Amino acid sequence: MKRVSRRTFLKGLAGVGLCALGGAAAWADWQRAGGEKPVEAELALPEHTREAMYYTGIEGGLDCASCHAPAEPSHTLYCHVPHQGRYVRCGLCPHRCVLAEGERGTCRVRENRGGKLYTFVYGNPCAVHVDPIEKKPFYHFLPGTAAFSLATAGCNLRCQYCQNYTISQQPPEETPNYDAPPEAVVTATAQSGAPSIAYTYSEPIVFYEYMLDTARLARRAGLRNVVISAGYINPEPLRELCRAVDAIKIDLKGYNDDFYRQVCGGTLEPVLEAIRVIHDMGVHLEIVNLVVPTLNDDLAELRALVEWVMDALGPGEMSSTNGGNPLSSAAALAAIKILEEERLPENAAKMGEFFKARFKYMQQRVPQLGDVRILGLMGGLEFVKDPETREPAPKLTRQIIYECFQRGLICIAPIGLYNNVIRVAPPLVITEEQANETLDIFEQALHAALAGLE
Ligand code: SF4
Repeated sequence: MKRVSRRTFLKGLAGVGLCALGGAAAWADWQRAGGEKPVEAELALPEHTREAMYYTGIEGGLDCASCHAPAEPSHTLYCHVPHQGRYVRCGLCPHRCVLAEGERGTCRVRENRGGKLYTFVYGNPCAVHVDPIEKKPFYHFLPGTAAFSLATAGCNLRCQYCQNYTISQQPPEETPNYDAPPEAVVTATAQSGAPSIAYTYSEPIVFYEYMLDTARLARRAGLRNVVISAGYINPEPLRELCRAVDAIKIDLKGYNDDFYRQVCGGTLEPVLEAIRVIHDMGVHLEIVNLVVPTLNDDLAELRALVEWVMDALGPGEMSSTNGGNPLSSAAALAAIKILEEERLPENAAKMGEFFKARFKYMQQRVPQLGDVRILGLMGGLEFVKDPETREPAPKLTRQIIYECFQRGLICIAPIGLYNNVIRVAPPLVITEEQANETLDIFEQALHAALAGLE
């Protein structure tokens, strides 16, 4: 389990520049102060576990129809396990997962423990940024302002083109997370100057309880709440959410049930129903349709989608299409073809390990190389004055970059909140021979920089 301690995580925060504006400082203060942690007294449950809302317990076993559609050919085919024990049925989203003891839902964050359903991501976001609200995107709600944005791991859909799959398609045990209960989020938002909190990036429906508590607290503090969702949620929990938030953006992925089933792992009708509910509840609603060339760009379907929006919701609703630029879409498809043909992801994984091993070796000899973070062929090297205090070393970092440049190796300017991180991003086609040459230069530059500053 890749759990990240507060200290390590803050260090990572400095390296990758996850937070921006004043919110980062407030966040760090709260983290250092220790924060309050959610505790479940009776069961030995992990941190950040809370009993879920919207589920029912099923005592005394299940009949086949509880999990299997009547259309399935023969009961005898699927009666493969004795259905006894303390099951639960989640009612939050249209999957309506039926979960045995210890089993997790499709969303990867809700689990049956002892006949109760628990969320495993309460107060435990894996992404925290301050973004322009237009990036969410909201085009007609608090335009020109920033939104304190957060997400936890998990999603109840499986969109094959998801750009945030590294967090949405992971359980919380596989993402580095913050300790961040609702009070901390509200405090950090207020101090950042952002007028709103955005629940976004992955799928906020799956961290429903955390979002709801934070939203209620935020509203009392004079902040607004905006939700960026695929809208795959049942009507009752959605109505409760609508009462606590100010704006919802729904990603209507297409007007085609087959597309939802085959590409997104869901179905269309519940999303349409969710849009109707939000509209009826009077919450500011914006709808975005992301056009993915070759997957959902049929003109007749796009026309049908627009007609549905106009018929179901009436004039005045905000809807927009993130149309793929034809040239860049064609270029992207060609690039993906080359990535596949030349097996570049495999090379990135292999060479990433190669770089990591060399950097780790250097770290054993140079304590100022405080941290090596490499995933595939992308990463960062963090430099510190002292490995114990972790005090950032921006001067040393700049000097290493200068020494690299003198030897013909170009590194981009230092990054991170403290300018003490060197980004590692070699080309995906790099060979072992080229990597060795690069690493030799880097090692020489590192020692020259250390000697120069002595
Ligand atoms: S929220 Fe998660 S556990 Fe609940 S029904 Fe949806 S996918 Fe299943």
